[in-house]
Amino acid sequence: MKKLLVAICIILLMACKDDALLGSDVVSQQVVANGCEGVFYPNWRTSPHLLPYPVGKSYRIGLSHCSGFPHIEGQPDQFAIDFIMDIGTLVTASRVGTIMFVEESGEDFEDVNNMVVLRDEDGYFLMYQHLTKNGALVEVGDFVDEGDPIGFSGASGLASYPHLHFVASFFGEWMPPYTSYPITFRNTSANPKSLIQGETYEALPYE
Ligand SMILES: [Zn+2]
Repeated sequence: MKKLLVAICIILLMACKDDALLGSDVVSQQVVANGCEGVFYPNWRTSPHLLPYPVGKSYRIGLSHCSGFPHIEGQPDQFAIDFIMDIGTLVTASRVGTIMFVEESGEDFEDVNNMVVLRDEDGYFLMYQHLTKNGALVEVGDFVDEGDPIGFSGASGLASYPHLHFVASFFGEWMPPYTSYPITFRNTSANPKSLIQGETYEALPYE
């Protein structure tokens, strides 16, 4: 009888562990969406934007455009993209531009949201959020070329798991509640409605 009880306890513990593992899979919990409905997406083949990481690297997408709260219509992060990355992963400039803002004092999994804001040539403000502590490799006023190092990703700002939250706003409007804009990326596989949740995108060589 005692042996049977021990066996049941072990099975119950294993069941709990499985649930915990499922719960930690951020992608499987969400409804997969293929871009936002009724939105004009810039042609990805001629997009001025590069993936925000070095050529040859591949990362999987957590939430993307209109794929689950807070990346939903009516929210500032409607058009944000979460790149699933370990803490300390190098992120790079998606476009030529000027660094407008740097915050890097926050600890991972605590409430200060470290970020770098890059203003590009068309007035988009590209935000690299949840960077790790002291993870910025640029300073306010720096000019960056596309592909230049920006910093290291992390989980600051109460991120529930390590990722880069990448979002474009416009015309200086980058403090919440900003308005986000749909952008596509030219140096990866086809993304006519931008990047899709759960898919993995390699940064390809670009011109
Ligand atoms: Zn996000």
